[in-house]
Amino acid sequence: MSEAAIDTSGMKVTDEVVIEIQHMHKWYGEFHVLKNVNLTVNRGERIVICGPSGSGKSTMIRCINRLEEHQQGHILVDGIELTNDLKNIDAIRREVGMVFQHFNLFPHLTVLENCTLAPIWVRQTPKKDAEEQAMHFLSKVKIPDQAHKYPGQLSGGQQQRVAIARSLCMNPRIMLFDEPTSALDPEMISEVLDTMIELAQEGMTMLCVTHEMGFARKVANRVIFMDGGEIIEQNEPEEFFTNPQSERTKLFLSQIL
Ligand code: ADP
Ligand code: MG
Repeated sequence: MSEAAIDTSGMKVTDEVVIEIQHMHKWYGEFHVLKNVNLTVNRGERIVICGPSGSGKSTMIRCINRLEEHQQGHILVDGIELTNDLKNIDAIRREVGMVFQHFNLFPHLTVLENCTLAPIWVRQTPKKDAEEQAMHFLSKVKIPDQAHKYPGQLSGGQQQRVAIARSLCMNPRIMLFDEPTSALDPEMISEVLDTMIELAQEGMTMLCVTHEMGFARKVANRVIFMDGGEIIEQNEPEEFFTNPQSERTKLFLSQIL
């Protein structure tokens, strides 16, 4: 991540609620993995979610676009409730992009084809338009010259930037990141964080599970700490890091900072 101060003028939180999670519970079989999660996200927020391994961070954000199903409570995205109704699931997935720790690119498709696959087949975008748009986003993540390569020919940092470009090709209004830099060699972390910073500067609503506390301090407007399937505390970054309330948060911060 660049050391220079970040221009935060484009990072504006509006009063429009985009995600509402109310009293949400989830079980994996007998295991109660999410316990009464409540979270309201407004348009333009950059939320960092942290917490020990196994605390339910991935499960929580995966519930938001129905990669996991919750069993109790409500999740609404742009006012649409997430139920078993496929129409609603589709509508919500149109709004929400997701980037994973292990990129999840299709290895047998080129970078360009990775980016155009869903626009062409899910959105029926004409191929030429889909390619134009893909090149636009590949330029944005600074790898237009890699368009005709296969993922395996790229570095981890480049692959993750392809994954971000691929998500952006679906024009999401919310981006979910699940430890996007955890699988990267240290020298590649900053190129991915810089891409995320640019997105934030353009006003994208973002939920990021990450251990990059420098990113949290500079970019997040809110940091959430999870432990044992619960949101233990949340605060704006300065307050969160200098004045953690719960003993569990203090312990966690003492281990990672
Ligand atoms: P985190 O992302 O905070 O590390 P996860 O959401 O991945 O945590 O996992 C929370 C807990 O749920 C962990 O104890 C994990 O082992 C368990 N878990 C995750 N996925 C599954 C699954 N598909 N089936 C059963 N247990 C799971
Ligand atoms: Mg996880």
